[in-house]
Amino acid sequence: MIALARSDRVKAFMQTSRATSFLRRKFVAGDDASAGVQRAQHLLKHDGIHSSLFYMGEYVDNFDLVKENVLQKLGVVEDLRLAGLDIHVSVDPTQIGYQVDPNMLPEFAGQIAEKIATAKGNGVGLNCLMFDMEDATLLAPTISLHNSLQDSGYPVALTLQAYLRRTYDDMKDQISRGSRVRLVKGAFAAGPEIAFQTQAEIKANSRKIIDLMFSRRAKENGFYPIVATHDTRLHEYTIRLAKANDWPDDSYEFEMLLGVREDLAKNLALRGQRVRLYVPFGKDWWPHAVRRIGENPRNAALLGKALLK
Ligand SMILES: Cc1cc2nc3c(=O)[nH]c(=O)nc-3n(C[C@H](O)[C@H](O)[C@H](O)COP(=O)(O)OP(=O)(O)OC[C@H]3O[C@@H](n4cnc5c(N)ncnc54)[C@H](O)[C@@H]3O)c2cc1C
Repeated sequence: MIALARSDRVKAFMQTSRATSFLRRKFVAGDDASAGVQRAQHLLKHDGIHSSLFYMGEYVDNFDLVKENVLQKLGVVEDLRLAGLDIHVSVDPTQIGYQVDPNMLPEFAGQIAEKIATAKGNGVGLNCLMFDMEDATLLAPTISLHNSLQDSGYPVALTLQAYLRRTYDDMKDQISRGSRVRLVKGAFAAGPEIAFQTQAEIKANSRKIIDLMFSRRAKENGFYPIVATHDTRLHEYTIRLAKANDWPDDSYEFEMLLGVREDLAKNLALRGQRVRLYVPFGKDWWPHAVRRIGENPRNAALLGKALLK
């Protein structure tokens, strides 16, 4: 799936084929920022669900595209402000220059963080530039970028992945810093020396890390936990732990993906939990969709059937 996500030829076919357009409709809000913002408004008004807007396009090795990505990220910050929503934008470091020249990354990320910091908007405490986490080679640079912007006082947040062995220690560091961290299982693969190999191990590690995220120390340090999963057992585990350790419902959040088990998101919101959906928009949708296919055999079967037809 990772190879399929990166293949330009497969991408060109999939993104223009009528057979695959159902995937775009399922997982993507639309072609442009206004479609993303409209979906975010709808989710908040009808279901009380917040959004994180994501302009798609990753592993970019062309400077013009990097500039376009940065402009799109800056544009959606303004659109969210005008719409009166919280200004929450997700960014992959490879979208904004890591592959072209890692030295330009702090500059571009800083521009987006600055725009979010000054835009204010309705959600003030919830506004942030959320760094997604890509493959393991990006881990150290992404953490370092996050930490330096955080040290400069910008509203930033970080994604950490439970499939990596070092994440438990990385989470401890972020708890000491009083950060805002989104825990995911991880949509990438790596060798056994750095990564857990089975779903059972990854789930067990997720629980261990969630224990840390809702510890007394995390609370004292002003840490903000974000549990990003569609795994109902982890939802219930988190809710029980948060209650047991006196974390109010608005001191943490759950995050899920647009088009994936949205019934679960709505149900959690109805129960008074703070919930956010990751809302992708843009035309470069195949890499995002193919990861969703990898996560669920039903999606793969649907794609197979559509292509055969
Ligand atoms: C908000 C958010 C942000 C993310 N950001 C990153 C990131 O920055 N870096 C990264 O590596 N990964 C990221 N991910 C992806 C994540 O790592 C997992 O690959 C993905 O969430 C699937 O794992 P899971 O914990 O949801 O559940 P699983 O244990 O895989 O599944 C739990 C249940 O949800 C169902 N389910 C899961 N995925 C799908 C799907 N696509 N379609 C239909 N049903 C599904 C399963 O069938 C199962 O019933 C993100 C996920 C979310 C929710």
